[in-house]
Formats: sequence, structure tokens, C-alpha cells
Amino acid sequence: MRVTVSDIVSLYRPTPCDLRIYLREHDFPEAEPSAFDEILRTLGERHEQQHLATLGACEDISAIPAPDRVSRTIEAIQNHLRVIYQGEFALETDVAGIPVIVVGRPDYLIWDTDGYIIRDSKLSRQVDADHHVEITLQFQLYGWLFERTIGERAKRLQVHTGKRDIVDVPCDGGVAAILAELERVLRLKQLGAEPYEPVGWTKCGGCGFNKYCWDKAQESGDVALVAEVDQGLARQPTSSANPRRQMRATRTGVTLCGNQLKKT
Ligand code: SF4
Repeated sequence: MRVTVSDIVSLYRPTPCDLRIYLREHDFPEAEPSAFDEILRTLGERHEQQHLATLGACEDISAIPAPDRVSRTIEAIQNHLRVIYQGEFALETDVAGIPVIVVGRPDYLIWDTDGYIIRDSKLSRQVDADHHVEITLQFQLYGWLFERTIGERAKRLQVHTGKRDIVDVPCDGGVAAILAELERVLRLKQLGAEPYEPVGWTKCGGCGFNKYCWDKAQESGDVALVAEVDQGLARQPTSSANPRRQMRATRTGVTLCGNQLKKT
């Protein structure tokens, strides 16, 4: 099974949701990117190319046939090439006893006197402990892949932000955090049945599975459709005598299941 850095990002963006990983793994149809998504993608590519142009000559791994990219990346690192663009790592390992290939492609690997800096361009203007946890996790995974593949630590992990700042990303304690995230992704991919995930206006608004999840919630009368029901309440465990599916959200209110809602 493959786990990529994009899987980790998918857990958190556009909003945190475990179900997104399961649906993507099982090829559920996802909406085409919106015009806004396309604009963001174009801006992201331009931002990346503008930064690349400031770094001088580079080894462009994206121009190499896919089967050779990992070996060419390792070779370029061993030769201390100054800038490696779109390098690729693919590490065969096991996580929680599950055999897995972990894949990551940092935008730039930059040789700096005695070691490599791993850097990515992001449109996000602020990246720190309180903003964009997925970016921190992404870099921790890059750092972990680099160290496991090359046998030494990356010198620094850095984000080229939407403000064109270069911000260091801390990698202390990253191994435990990233292994926990990898295990979480693997378990979601391996589930035998679709996990329950309550829908929400803010949560689902920008998600490509919006239509699928809302149609399903409406068909089943999921209690998460009721405005007064928060995500925590919707997730509450059910019993055979009191299954969540017995809750009924209607236009006029809620047909009670359990003893917590009595709106009609
Ligand atoms: S539509 Fe909502 S519930 Fe469905 S995968 Fe997206 S965020 Fe999760």
C-alpha cells in the first residue's frame, strides 16, 4: 500500500475529515476542481516557478521518467548538487506492522555548505504551530523520509510562504507525530466499510465529496443535518436499541432518538 504526503494533507484540507481519505482510496467520484480551485492552482504554480528562478541552475527531477526519479534524486544528493527540483523519495517500510511505501516529493532540496535544506513553496501566508498543521506534518514527513533514505538529517526544513518569506519549520518530536499520522491514514485506507462522518456546512463546503455526502445524509435522515446538532453529538456512539440511523432530521425538526433532542 502507498501512503503519500498528499494523503496527510488530505486529512486536513480543505477541512479536517477522515472520510475523505477512505473515499479517495476507494475511487469515489469527486467533483471537478472549481474555478476558484483552478485559480489557486495557477497562482501556486507561478509562486513556485518564481522562487525556483531565484535559486539558479537546478537538477529537474520532474523531467526524468517516473521509474528513475527516486534513484536520480538519491544520486543527485550524494553528488551534492546545489538545487534539486521536485526530488522524489519512496521508502519501503512498515508502519504498525503494515507493509507500506511512503512517498514524498519536496519542491526543492538545496545544498547549504554541509547539508541539505528541504523547502516547499506554499501560498499560505502564515505557517506556525497555530496555523496549517498539515504543512508542519508534511515537512516532518519530508524530514523523516530524507533521514531514512540518505542516512543523515536534513539541515533545515523551510517554507517559502505566500508572503515570500522563508520560515523554518521545527522538526523536533516529528517522528512520533508523523508515524501516528501515517498509521491513521493506513487504518482509514484499509477499513472494510465507509466510516461515519457527520456533514457540516463549513466543513463540507469546499470538499469534492460534498454532493455525495449530503445526498447520503439526506437519504438516511442523518441527525447531522439538524442545525442544533454539533459534530460531537452526531458522532455519539449508538447501540442496537438506539442506532444513530433512527434519528430523523426533517424540515420540521427532529424525531427523537435517545434523550438529548426533543425538537419538533
Ligand atoms: S463532504 Fe464533508 S463529510 Fe464528506 S468527505 Fe468532505 S468534508 Fe468529509
